[in-house]
Amino acid sequence: MLFIPARRALTPEGFRGPSMIAVDDAGLITSIEPTTAITPDLTVVPGFVDVQVNGIGDIDVASARGADWSRITDLLLDQGVTSWCPTLVTDALDRYAAPLERIAEARRREGSRIIGAHLEGPFLGGAPGAHQRALLAPIDLDWLAALPDIVRLVTIAPELPLAVEAIRLLVANGIVVALGHSTPSLDAVDAAVVAGATMVTHLFNAMSGVHHRQPGLAAAALVEDRLAVGLIADLVHVHPLALQLAFRCKPSDRTVLVTDAVASRSGRLGEFAIQVRDGAPRLADGTLAGSVVTMDQAIRNVVRRCGITLEQAVRSATTNPARLLGCEDRGAIAVGQRADLVGLDDALRVGAVWLGGVQVRQRGADH
Ligand code: ZN
Repeated sequence: MLFIPARRALTPEGFRGPSMIAVDDAGLITSIEPTTAITPDLTVVPGFVDVQVNGIGDIDVASARGADWSRITDLLLDQGVTSWCPTLVTDALDRYAAPLERIAEARRREGSRIIGAHLEGPFLGGAPGAHQRALLAPIDLDWLAALPDIVRLVTIAPELPLAVEAIRLLVANGIVVALGHSTPSLDAVDAAVVAGATMVTHLFNAMSGVHHRQPGLAAAALVEDRLAVGLIADLVHVHPLALQLAFRCKPSDRTVLVTDAVASRSGRLGEFAIQVRDGAPRLADGTLAGSVVTMDQAIRNVVRRCGITLEQAVRSATTNPARLLGCEDRGAIAVGQRADLVGLDDALRVGAVWLGGVQVRQRGADH
């Protein structure tokens, strides 16, 4: 049995004062009790869950091999991310099998901290952003039906022919469907939601917007309670005011912070050269190509610049993405949940990280 002391802990019912979190040999939380023991000055919250990570540092998940995977997971642990989805951007249909097999192999080795792969593309629509236009493909239902188990999330454009059939098929196969890189009609959005889509990928970015006479996907996503919204809170992709708008519109369990991190130090995203300019990686023409924000920074940004409570910010980086992806075993500090935890200091920096109750990061060691 392990015991983790916290000056306060965020539970599904809200913050609790000085607490002792008990963890059993299987790494699961068995109790959260008030304590009079001396506790470190840390606010303990669930480990962060990032459903959109293309790469980090100089490692792109599409080409990561062998030891690269433990380096990625190490870099993610530094920012408190304990579960994540390696994300593949648009490529030719016959070029997904190899990276998906490498992700599956990494999951077998690294464990379920790798939740599963997120395919962002190749069935994207009117707002491809940094995806290669030449590789955008018409929906291929046979290809989707044959996706391996490692795929957990697919971003698709609802305006494409066969989108409803594709969404139904994916959802029937246990895959979560997000809408994105898209300029659909409102009817197409409705049909996608009825078919089972439950998320919008990076709200506001690469989609039709909130024009008052021609409301686009962003407007529809803001008022459709069944859709969770991914938000890149680097303050470059989305203005703080628009982030605030999203948090005010959406139910508290439908906001999801994502980093959309890319291997910015590699200088490449797939076939394209990228360079960090004005706070984010960009193609030569200035098009945003993922972010360099870390999840802990995203939380600080929405708390400090958007007036979002720490509780809601953390929930958007933990419970909400975990439940959205069907992970019922993590994302909350509650009895029976995995003791994947982050300790935040008063400046909301990552001061400690635990995996299954075992401390793997400590304040001062990596800052
Ligand atoms: Zn994107």
